[in-house]
Amino acid sequence: MIPIQRPSLVLLRNAGGHWPAAGPGLSITQIDKAGVSAALDRYLAGFDLTGSRRNGLSGELGTAILLEIANGGILLSVDSRHAGASWLKAGRVRQEVYVSRPLVSEITFKFLHHLDERGNMLPVTHKDPAFVPEWISDLDWILGGQANVWFELQKAEPVKINRQLGSPVNDVAFRTYIAQHKDALADVTVFLVGKWSGSGHAGGTFFTDLGDVIALADKPGIPVVEGNNPFIVTLAHELVHYVLHFRGNKRNIHHLPDQHALLNKLVESTVVTPFLQQALNPG
Ligand SMILES: [Zn+2]
Repeated sequence: MIPIQRPSLVLLRNAGGHWPAAGPGLSITQIDKAGVSAALDRYLAGFDLTGSRRNGLSGELGTAILLEIANGGILLSVDSRHAGASWLKAGRVRQEVYVSRPLVSEITFKFLHHLDERGNMLPVTHKDPAFVPEWISDLDWILGGQANVWFELQKAEPVKINRQLGSPVNDVAFRTYIAQHKDALADVTVFLVGKWSGSGHAGGTFFTDLGDVIALADKPGIPVVEGNNPFIVTLAHELVHYVLHFRGNKRNIHHLPDQHALLNKLVESTVVTPFLQQALNPG
């Protein structure tokens, strides 16, 4: 998948020694070993990543790409002029690509407070609005980078419900007292509810019938690939449900059978499969 709005990097495997060619709407520049580091810097500048994470990624990706080039891969910087299907080719290697337009949704996060047994208004989530810029940066990397799906922060604020809702928060409490506090100006509202025992996914639920709202636990008890953060994976998972719903979910996808990728009920990761990329960008 190639975003229409800026240059992208594509690696063709087993293509060394061949002159690359591009299909309709694409223009390409081959990047040699000496240019990899600068090309990655330009590419990563498109993501809202903070200094140390960006340097870490730049180092990891640079090492991986140099290894691929040493093993017969070629790295291309690809610009596109219009959305749709096209291809890249070098020798006998041909790679189908799809140029997508960005989807930008406005997102609001609401941090639940309610009354304890003594009638004190207290937060029930340990998450805090100060964490939100990092979540958006993670989402940019996961869904922006892999699927050209982006989230712009509208608001991050507490929501105070003047009654005892119990813990964990369940479907009934959510439907009756919480969902109505969604941000009507945002495309999607995520409620941080602390502990969640609602239907659907273990650590969170996307509700279509309540108007694009998500309930999300602080510590989703889901299995993820080592090194991935279950909270971020669950946030991305529920937002994928939102985007599929927004796109009309033409393929009737709810969860995928793929292990170690996003949107399954097995062991999840932040990887967006090509199948899911297409479902999120139904031309
Ligand atoms: Zn799900």
